[in-house]
Amino acid sequence: MQKSSEQPSLLVLENFIGGKFISCRDHVDSYDPSTGEVYCKVPDSSKEEVDAAVAAAKEAFPDWSARSPQERAEVLVKLADLIDANMEELAQAESRDQGKTLTVARTVDIPRSAYNFRFFASSVLHHTTDCSQMDHMGCLNYTTRCPVGVAGLISPWNLPLYLLTWKIAPAIATGNTVVAKPSEMTSVTAWMLCKLMQQAGVPPGVVNIVFGTGPRAGDALVGHPDVPLISFTGSTVTAQRITERSAPYCKKLSLELGGKNPAIIFADADLEQCVATTVRSSFLNQGEICLCTSRIYVERSIYSEFLEKFVAAAKKWKTGVPSDPNNNNGALISKEHLQKVRSFVALAKSEGATLHCGDGVDPLDLPQRHKSGYFMPATVLSGVPDSSRVMQEEIFGPVTCVSPFDSEDEAVARGNGVRYGLSATVWSRDVGRVHRVAQRLQAGVVWTNCWLVRDLNLPFGGMKNSGVGREGGKDSYDFFTEVKSITIKH
Ligand code: NAD
Repeated sequence: MQKSSEQPSLLVLENFIGGKFISCRDHVDSYDPSTGEVYCKVPDSSKEEVDAAVAAAKEAFPDWSARSPQERAEVLVKLADLIDANMEELAQAESRDQGKTLTVARTVDIPRSAYNFRFFASSVLHHTTDCSQMDHMGCLNYTTRCPVGVAGLISPWNLPLYLLTWKIAPAIATGNTVVAKPSEMTSVTAWMLCKLMQQAGVPPGVVNIVFGTGPRAGDALVGHPDVPLISFTGSTVTAQRITERSAPYCKKLSLELGGKNPAIIFADADLEQCVATTVRSSFLNQGEICLCTSRIYVERSIYSEFLEKFVAAAKKWKTGVPSDPNNNNGALISKEHLQKVRSFVALAKSEGATLHCGDGVDPLDLPQRHKSGYFMPATVLSGVPDSSRVMQEEIFGPVTCVSPFDSEDEAVARGNGVRYGLSATVWSRDVGRVHRVAQRLQAGVVWTNCWLVRDLNLPFGGMKNSGVGREGGKDSYDFFTEVKSITIKH
């Protein structure tokens, strides 16, 4: 991200503060990953803009928090309807901004963004609080929940509108007001959402969006004394910085971070289904999903058969122009990220790994206009030791490693042998084993014989370096509210 030169023909985004679009003095360039060209100017907001947004959110809080959950839910449903009505425009923008295929934007990102609002509009109506069943020292005790205040929401670039709305929806459904900062690399759909919020009747100041970089706008938001809660999704390194920065204020923190997710495949798995799903779990959205599989452990008796079938399927996973419906993957988010992902493949090769397909062996046939785009084909490695950085660090790209194992204990130990603990996948037809292994894996989410099946009522989040706290139905409700115990003497 560099300071942009003046290019008036580019799309220029504005901040959304107090229900109004407000232009910013400084901007950063945002690139179309499929061409490598600058196409958009994103506000490079500073403390000044963040202060104005927090002031607007504070002003809106008394009215919004006093409304009934039903009244707030009605606004959320209108917003969901408007996202649905603008599905195609939003999907086109998301694909261009992020590099993902139009198909993924149309079938995953934008429908889920609408559903986030619809889900929390309903979910917020169904929570109850506790009441003591009998008198305790002549008192009746009960709990009540109230919104926290101004919520600071910070989101990443991989699922831009999807993850931003996953935070905005529960925050405002529970009566908070919001200052959100999307990733500076993918800000366009958040900006489009602002127009829809105006149309849906979201009152001015209830949702403010400040665009800009992490170290500038993000840091000002995290360090703002009037923002008592931060919900952050992004990398573990940034989360460490946010934790330090917010510590003096004792902020409520929810941190949804990176992963190094294992798939454990036993010999009795339905191989056909397992191969098809594991290709998807490794490469969907260019492997740029925190839940993507990047370590595949296969029971030795089926290792060769699995590897052969998996590599054949990976070779069929097509990478190319995002708008082409025949392509499974588009472009990676940035030139720097592409270089980082490719450096892991080079490292694995230098350590003696076998490269079965993808980077460097399967050249991409791209049209002239896209030759400078940040494309990389689905890449499969084997023979990478568990101690390698390639098996330990989050790559966040279309690269996965396959390795054999001999026993259940070994598979669990190796699955757990990283500092992350976000998700894991287990493949077996033995129901006892599925339960045993799922129980022993250190991961916030374990899928068995499937992947990425999400019930939004369930707690979502990671163990170890993959996060702090959980979000989802009841957990989001708890996070975005404060509980109070009330004792009535009678
Ligand atoms: P990132 O940490 O670089 O940035 C995330 C957001 O934080 C961006 O909006 C960025 O501008 C902001 N930011 C950066 N520095 C900041 C600072 N000092 N103070 C405040 N804000 C700051 O992450 P990314 O590269 O955008 O996203 C990829 C990462 O996100 C991967 O590690 C991925 O696994 C993770 N992720 C996790 C989940 C999950 O639910 N667990 C979901 C998606 C992505």
